[in-house]
Amino acid sequence: MEPFEGEARADLAIIGGGICGSSLALHAAEAGLNVVLLEAKTIGWGASGRNSGHLPAASKHTPQKMVEMYGAGRGERLNALIARGPAIVFDLAKRHEMSATAEPTGTLSAAHTPRALRALEEQAAFLAAHQFPVELLDRKAAAEAIGSDFYFGALLDRRGGAINPLAYVRGLARAARRAGAGVHEWSRATKLERDNKAWLVGTERGRLRAEAVALCTNAYTDALWPGLTQSIIPVRLQQYVTSPLPEPLRRKILPGRQAFTDSRRMIIGARMHKDGRFQFNGRGPGFGAEGDLAWREALGRMTEIWPELADAKQESAWTGWVAMNREKSWKVHNPAPGLYAALGCNGRGIVIATLIGQELARLLSGADAAEVALPLADLKPIPLHAVHRPIVRSIVGYYKLRDAVELKATARPRAGA
Ligand SMILES: Cc1cc2nc3c(=O)[nH]c(=O)nc-3n(C[C@H](O)[C@H](O)[C@H](O)COP(=O)(O)OP(=O)(O)OC[C@H]3O[C@@H](n4cnc5c(N)ncnc54)[C@H](O)[C@@H]3O)c2cc1C
Repeated sequence: MEPFEGEARADLAIIGGGICGSSLALHAAEAGLNVVLLEAKTIGWGASGRNSGHLPAASKHTPQKMVEMYGAGRGERLNALIARGPAIVFDLAKRHEMSATAEPTGTLSAAHTPRALRALEEQAAFLAAHQFPVELLDRKAAAEAIGSDFYFGALLDRRGGAINPLAYVRGLARAARRAGAGVHEWSRATKLERDNKAWLVGTERGRLRAEAVALCTNAYTDALWPGLTQSIIPVRLQQYVTSPLPEPLRRKILPGRQAFTDSRRMIIGARMHKDGRFQFNGRGPGFGAEGDLAWREALGRMTEIWPELADAKQESAWTGWVAMNREKSWKVHNPAPGLYAALGCNGRGIVIATLIGQELARLLSGADAAEVALPLADLKPIPLHAVHRPIVRSIVGYYKLRDAVELKATARPRAGA
C-alpha cells in the first residue's frame, strides 16, 4: 500500500496499522467517515502480526474483577462485549474472506497447582451460570485434551480459538480500503499538532488535516504525543515454531487444537497448527535485542509438559513488544479534544483491539459516550517509569521463583492414578 504523499483532509486520521487501527479504519469507514490510516512500516508489523494467535473470550481479569474496576454498568457491558469477542472476530474473518485463517477450536486453560484448579472451578461455575459453553475438565480429561498429565485440570472454553494474526490484520486493512479508507504503509507520523479546531498530522512526504486523530500504536508508541510512552512498559516476548511434528505427536498433543495456556505467573502458551507445526512462547530477555532468543530454555519448559518434544526442531522464531501497565488493562485516553489513544494491551489484544476499534468508531460517528462500552481513562505516567527495567527484571525473577517453588512443592498428578 503506497506511502501517504501531499496534502489531504479527513474526518479521522489513524496512526498505527495494527489490529486496533485497522479495525477502527474498517468500522469508521463503514460508518461513513472519511478515514486515512498511516502505518510507519507495513500493516501488522507491530505486535498484531507477531502474536500467538490465541483468541480467548476474556481480558486479563475475571468478569468479577472487571465490574470492580469499571463499575457495574460499564464493567458488565465490557464483559458482555468481550464474551462475544471471539465470535465478532470470527464473523469479521468470514465477512471479509479470511475464514481460512480462523479456527474456532476453543481455548484450554490448565491448572498447574490444586489452588489454581480451585480458581478455575470458580471461573467455570461463574461462566456456566451465564450459559457460556465452558467445561471443567478433571485430571484425566485434561490429560487427554492436553496430551500430558502435567496438570490438575483445565477449563475448556468453546467460545474462543485461534487465528493467523498477520492474515487477520492484513485482511482488516484490505477490508477498510474496500470500505473507502485510505491506508498507507511506510508513512510514519512525525508531527501532531492542533491547528485551530482540527489536527495536523505530518509525515515525511505529506500533511493530513483531520477532525479527529486516533493513536493506535500500543507498545510501538513513540514520542508523537507527550506522556504516552510513560504510561506503558514495553516488554519483549518470544515466539517459536517447530517444523511439522510426526503424525503420532500431532494426534497426541492438543488433539483438539485449542489455544492452550496455563495458570503460572510466567504463563505457558502453545498451540498446534493444522499442518503439525507447534507454536509456543519463550521468556528470553524482556528488553533484549531482537536476536536474543532462548529456544533451548523455551523447549525445556515445553518438554517438562510434553517430553516427546525433545527432538523437535526450531523452524522459525521471532519477537514482538507488548505494552504492560500496572492495571493489566487496555486504556483509551482522550487527552485533548478529538484526540484518542489506545494502548496497554498487557499481552491480550486480538479480540480487545478489534473491539476497541469497533467501539471507538461508534463513538467518533456520533454514538452517545455513555452507551459505548469503552471506558475513557486519564493519561498518567507509571510511577518510577524511568527505572522500570530493573524493577520489571526483579518482578520477573520473583515470578519465576514463585512458579518454580510451587511446581516443586506440588506432586504432579498422574492421569491414570
Ligand atoms: C509475541 C506476542 C504474542 C502475543 N500473543 C497474543 C495472543 O495470543 N492473543 C492476543 O489476544 N494477544 C496477543 N498479543 C498481544 C497482541 O498482539 C496486541 O495486543 C495487539 O496486536 C495490539 O494491536 P495494536 O494494533 O494496538 O498494536 P500493534 O499491532 O503493535 O500496532 C502498532 C503499530 O503502530 C505503528 N506505529 C508506531 N508509531 C507510529 C507512527 N508514529 N506513525 C505511524 N505508525 C506508527 C507500528 O509500526 C505498529 O505497526 C501478543 C503480543 C506479542 C508481541
